[in-house]
Amino acid sequence: MPVRSKDNFLVFGSPRIEQAEIDEVVASMKSGWLGTGPKVAQFEKDFSAYLDNGYAAACNSCTAALHLSLVALGLKPGDEVITTPMTFCASINAIIHAGCTPVLADIDPVTQNIDPESVRAKITGRTKAILPVHFAGRACDMDALMAIANEHDLKVVEDCAHAIETTYKGKHAGTFGNFGCFSFYVTKNVCTGEGGMVMARTQKDIQHVKILGLHGMSADAWKRFSDEGYKHYQVVSAGFKYNMMDIQAAIGIHQLARVEKYFVRRCEIWDRYQEAFKDLPIGLPAPEEPNTRHARHLYTIMIDEAKTGIARDDFLVRITKESIGVGVHYLSIPEQPYYRERFGWTLEDTPHAVTLGRQTVSLPLSAKLTDADVADVIKAVKICLDK
Ligand SMILES: *Cc1c(COP(=O)(O)O)cnc(C)c1O
Repeated sequence: MPVRSKDNFLVFGSPRIEQAEIDEVVASMKSGWLGTGPKVAQFEKDFSAYLDNGYAAACNSCTAALHLSLVALGLKPGDEVITTPMTFCASINAIIHAGCTPVLADIDPVTQNIDPESVRAKITGRTKAILPVHFAGRACDMDALMAIANEHDLKVVEDCAHAIETTYKGKHAGTFGNFGCFSFYVTKNVCTGEGGMVMARTQKDIQHVKILGLHGMSADAWKRFSDEGYKHYQVVSAGFKYNMMDIQAAIGIHQLARVEKYFVRRCEIWDRYQEAFKDLPIGLPAPEEPNTRHARHLYTIMIDEAKTGIARDDFLVRITKESIGVGVHYLSIPEQPYYRERFGWTLEDTPHAVTLGRQTVSLPLSAKLTDADVADVIKAVKICLDK
């Protein structure tokens, strides 16, 4: 008998959705404002208030947010952007779509974040930006990264897809670099179904991002069709179609209002895992660095076959058979054939990321989990490790 029955499969990253967002979506539908409107404006306002710094532009994904940020920086073909191999492919694709060349620095094997010393070693005359990812919700070493950026006159775009609640020395992730990009994909800490946010330091930068994100038009549709009278739009650049809808913001407004409550719940689950697994022959997340807050987006264990006695991929198969949904965040970027072929990356270039990518397993950590769900995950992990 599996720990849970097949029809009770614990879906990885299933979001917690409550009545308030359901009602707000219905209200949006009834109001007729389905597209970008007052709720998007409200969500942007609430989000910048939560981060307590900067200007917000909502868009339809974090991938779009990253792309817009890099385009807004005015980078040119051949410009190099240094990033981490321990990230989702979207971080790399956004660099490519902005016309730039991605360059991988290795990670620190303990924090699993981009290693500033490795960044330094990858700087060339063509380097124009750094794109750090606050992996799993753990703050990158922003003092070191910003010092390198200042020294070499580099721009910084922070990938904060895991890091809404993350702080570093009292300041939120996403408020250090020129731009911070957030995700509201279903599995993320705040969800809107699909959705993203760009945070900028200046009003001018966010205006630029907003124009680029809506066809390059100088005034958005909501303002154009309001009762202030008809206004012609002006196309001022070849923009994209990356705007968020009010239906998405309707979900986000209520999700964001509960961000701290959900965070507390994920901390409880995290602590329960840490306690339950402390004597098992697996790697566990390192404690968070002093004066930082880890957003608790991913709880990852490391299965090193030599120590654990089971291969990581066999563990994935076994635990799925126990009806516990798990994830791999991530196979390191050089494992993906497209990038290897296009950029000639080898596994030896970023050994720490490759090793981690072959050992890591993400366990369920949604605020939706009940105590019984958490107990099932713990039980399943122990069963799967038991030879
Ligand atoms: C989820 C994720 C993205 C992409 O977010 P979308 O909103 O799905 O486009 C980018 N980077 C990282 C690290 C992510 O986890």
